[in-house]
Amino acid sequence: MYVVFERIAVIGIGLIGSSIALAARESGAARAIALYDADPAVRQRARELSLGEVFDDAAEAVKHADLVVLCVPVGAMAAAAESCKPGMKIGAIVTDVGSVKQAVVDGVGALLPTYVYFIPGHPIAGTERSGPDAGFAALFHNRWHILTPLPGDEREAYAAAVTQLEEFWRGLGAQVERMAPDRHDVVLAVTSHLPHLIAFNIVAMAEDLESVTESEVVKYSASGFRDFTRIAASDPTMWRDVFLNNKEAVLEVLGRFSEDLAALQRAIRWGEGDALYALFDRARRMRREVIEAGQDTPAPNWGREN
Ligand code: NAP
Repeated sequence: MYVVFERIAVIGIGLIGSSIALAARESGAARAIALYDADPAVRQRARELSLGEVFDDAAEAVKHADLVVLCVPVGAMAAAAESCKPGMKIGAIVTDVGSVKQAVVDGVGALLPTYVYFIPGHPIAGTERSGPDAGFAALFHNRWHILTPLPGDEREAYAAAVTQLEEFWRGLGAQVERMAPDRHDVVLAVTSHLPHLIAFNIVAMAEDLESVTESEVVKYSASGFRDFTRIAASDPTMWRDVFLNNKEAVLEVLGRFSEDLAALQRAIRWGEGDALYALFDRARRMRREVIEAGQDTPAPNWGREN
């Protein structure tokens, strides 16, 4: 792999930020890696893990960086961009990894200077873990990375910057696709945001049930509940920000989900076995497609090495 960026700066050293640092180093896609996190304990841990050169100031971290990657929760993106702004060099590419795109385009896009190229993005890769110890270099292997370039920016240099950022993510092992930010938000509401909401809800509901004790739920969790608890273990700050910032798309998909759930409820009540069978069979086929596409584990070796 050849060097795509001489120097990158990673802002926010959690699961995604530390994985980018490790993957950029392992692949050689960046020659130098600067890091910053708002939490001093996280900065200290990043030093111990030798993730790169850790700075105590965001603007200092991005100085001389050709690429700045904002890896903080969606609700903190604008504040993180603001703190980096004084140090950003002319011609730097600024991207992010937020799980919602339109809100980041609006919030961060509005405050960045025109002498940097802002190209929002989202790696469709992750685990329920967070923090700098959770990162691993293979996280992006064979995963999609969606870029949502700003539609209004017609500059030739902007197009070149998008191409360079695509190369960087390919270097980290990802497959890259471009998408409009609002389209991204609807697609992810279906594939990620709603499933997480359901998991949070089921786990919380099981805790409140009176007919089944908590110890019974835990004891017999391998019968399905276990998988929901894994998803529901994801970082609460990150997910709070996702739902606050992708409100419209999530509410729309949730409305449709509730209607279909009501239909299922009716089918169970009236003993409509054929309707239940048809739906479960359709769902099973979808599972096969996910496995065939190689997207059935959080990472290529997940569950075997982690
Ligand atoms: P994480 O492990 O919780 O790490 C985020 C880090 O950013 C924390 O250490 C946090 O510190 C720090 N931070 C918060 N505000 C900051 C600021 N203004 N400046 C500098 N650092 C700041 O989060 P993550 O899972 O890596 O997620 C990061 C982003 O990636 C989110 O936008 C998320 O939507 C997106 N994403 C996550 C996944 C996933 O599976 N986790 C997948 C794809 C995309 P404090 O804890 O002190 O606030």
